[in-house]
Amino acid sequence: MANLLTIEVALARILDRAQPLPTESVTLWEALGRVLAKPALSRIDLPPFPSSAMDGFAVRAADTPGTLPVAIRIAAGKPASEMLPTGAAAAIATGGVVPEGADAVVPIERAGESDGRVEISEPLSKGAHIRPRGGDVEEGAVVAGAGTRLGAAQIGALAAAGIAQVTCSVRPRVAVLATGSELRAPGEPLEPGQIFESNRMMIGAILAAAGADVEHLPVVADEQEAHREVLAQGLEADVLVTSGGVSMGPHDLVRRVTAELGVEEVFWGVAVKPGKPLVFGVRGATLVFGLPGNPVSCLVGSLLFAAPALLARQGVARPGPAFEAGRAAVALRRNPHRDEFVRARRRFEDDGVVLEPIPGQESHMIVRAATADALVHVPRGTGEIPVGANLRYLTF
Ligand code: AMP
Ligand code: MG
Repeated sequence: MANLLTIEVALARILDRAQPLPTESVTLWEALGRVLAKPALSRIDLPPFPSSAMDGFAVRAADTPGTLPVAIRIAAGKPASEMLPTGAAAAIATGGVVPEGADAVVPIERAGESDGRVEISEPLSKGAHIRPRGGDVEEGAVVAGAGTRLGAAQIGALAAAGIAQVTCSVRPRVAVLATGSELRAPGEPLEPGQIFESNRMMIGAILAAAGADVEHLPVVADEQEAHREVLAQGLEADVLVTSGGVSMGPHDLVRRVTAELGVEEVFWGVAVKPGKPLVFGVRGATLVFGLPGNPVSCLVGSLLFAAPALLARQGVARPGPAFEAGRAAVALRRNPHRDEFVRARRRFEDDGVVLEPIPGQESHMIVRAATADALVHVPRGTGEIPVGANLRYLTF
């Protein structure tokens, strides 16, 4: 592990190998959280007709101010069958079709109706409270572009534009496995020397949030045969993520066995703390991430490298990682050789986010890490980052 790659170079090498997955047509609900492979175009002008933005009265602006007879009543969903006569008003609901002839709406709270006449005391300007046809989007225009990950607002927009099916990347199949003879599943009895296995859950959670269909493979003992069997199974997935067994010890078998199974190692070792001995390889289109076993190393490696790779395979335009901006609450010592990720809690102040490191920064301390909500990037270098300095962080 002589040549540690910088995070940027490691990420570039990973993204370089992230081939796009096939695409399929899915319903909108199935599309939630997926990535559009083709731009989705509006099927209609939206709104499809000039509609009222308020409950009130549609009139000719030129007839205001004035007292006008209510000639028509228009509910939402039903266009007026006739043109608005001059010198008259149409009672109209929000979303109702503005009748031909009308060019303004006065809201009900600014117009008094009595005995079938409406009194409008102020002049209205043309277009007041009318939503023009196509004001949100025009027919044939792009509602969401290729490479967009579809969230709540996007699937709402697609529905509003009359789009029932979209072409998206298939969901990537991700296999997650853990290595370590000391690991037991939570719920099982713990013998001396053993700990509970936690990385598969955590890695799976991060990658599910990045769109993966996660399969948890069995925990593998530190023996070649066991490694071979389960790694071979994992290599059938689009992305395989392993935990543990990538350091220099005699029981660290992941690199050796993946090589035997035909995985080309792209790099081993990143200048990051925690998470240095991360290994990345490929077999065909399958991406293989070997994350070091310490739980916080796994957290960092998953967020920094595996999740962006997964988004890239789904065709996301900018796969991240999506750093946010904050300020240091305290001075932070820099590591001369490696970029560090410090677990911190965010404080939302009037002028931005302040990042307060939590006590317990060792890489095995997952319970401490779980009290934080930010991984603060402290670039390698000499000396200290001063209090109040601008820093980037990832949320988790
Ligand atoms: P390794 O990378 O295999 O040398 O493991 C480094 C440390 O992480 C050791 O203390 C392991 O016991 C621990 N560890 C490895 N895998 C897991 C896991 N899946 N869940 C929790 N701790 C783990
Ligand atoms: Mg191990």
